[in-house]
Amino acid sequence: MAVESVMMQRPIRVSVLNTPVDCVDMAAALRYVDDAIQNAKQPATILAVNPEKVYAIRDNAFLQDFFQRAGLLLPDGIGIVYALRLQGQRVARVAGADLMPMICALAAEKGYKIFIYGSSEAVNREAVERLNTRYPGIRIVGRSNGYRQSTEMDDLVAHINRSEAEILFVALGSPRQEQWMFEHLDRLSTVKVCQGIGGTLDTIVGTVKRAPLFMQRLHLEWLFRLFQQPSRAGRQLWLVRFIWEVARDRMRTVGRD
Ligand code: UDP
Repeated sequence: MAVESVMMQRPIRVSVLNTPVDCVDMAAALRYVDDAIQNAKQPATILAVNPEKVYAIRDNAFLQDFFQRAGLLLPDGIGIVYALRLQGQRVARVAGADLMPMICALAAEKGYKIFIYGSSEAVNREAVERLNTRYPGIRIVGRSNGYRQSTEMDDLVAHINRSEAEILFVALGSPRQEQWMFEHLDRLSTVKVCQGIGGTLDTIVGTVKRAPLFMQRLHLEWLFRLFQQPSRAGRQLWLVRFIWEVARDRMRTVGRD
């Protein structure tokens, strides 16, 4: 599999319940992206860390390894941010869904080429149209929906390589997108940055709404999502377990000090 070049500047990497995460803010994340596009020899992966992933990783040796070797691990979930603050790290949330459009703005400014893979055909097409309108000058050089057969992967890889994209967004949800990256990144000849963006295209198009800003500011985006997609309630139970385990670890640490 492909990992980022060792020459690039990395933020400090710490861990929350044994899951690695980077102490990075939006500005540093964008500097990392720019640096990777200039200097990376292989695609640098950008992945989001949230409480659900903590448990997905714990039970999955492949994901553990893939996350350890990622280029950038975003403090995407507010639970992660609070856990880091309890460790004395001064971090703010960097949502993957916020970083993705910021990368698009950077790419529009610098002329970097983008390929967007994932989501349904309608969402993918509409998201590309909206990004083209929102960021004049953006160079989205290729796109594909996320429902291609495994037998079509060679074609997809060839399509991405022909497009000469430097930035690849993969929107297949977790852990599908990480698995795809693991299997295919080292066959991509021009991609320097690959971000797993989950359901971000759905929020760009509006088929899934993001929480209103006041809720985002109150760190209640998870609650909004729960009401909007009740079928995800099971996934959010991880948050309860996460809070309990972080609190228990903290009490043990304080007890030792
Ligand atoms: N998706 C896809 N191919 C698949 C399964 C899912 O492209 O085989 C897309 C789906 O259309 C949606 C995204 O992956 O746009 C999953 O979003 P979700 O919010 O579940 O991801 P998360 O951010 O929670 O990982």
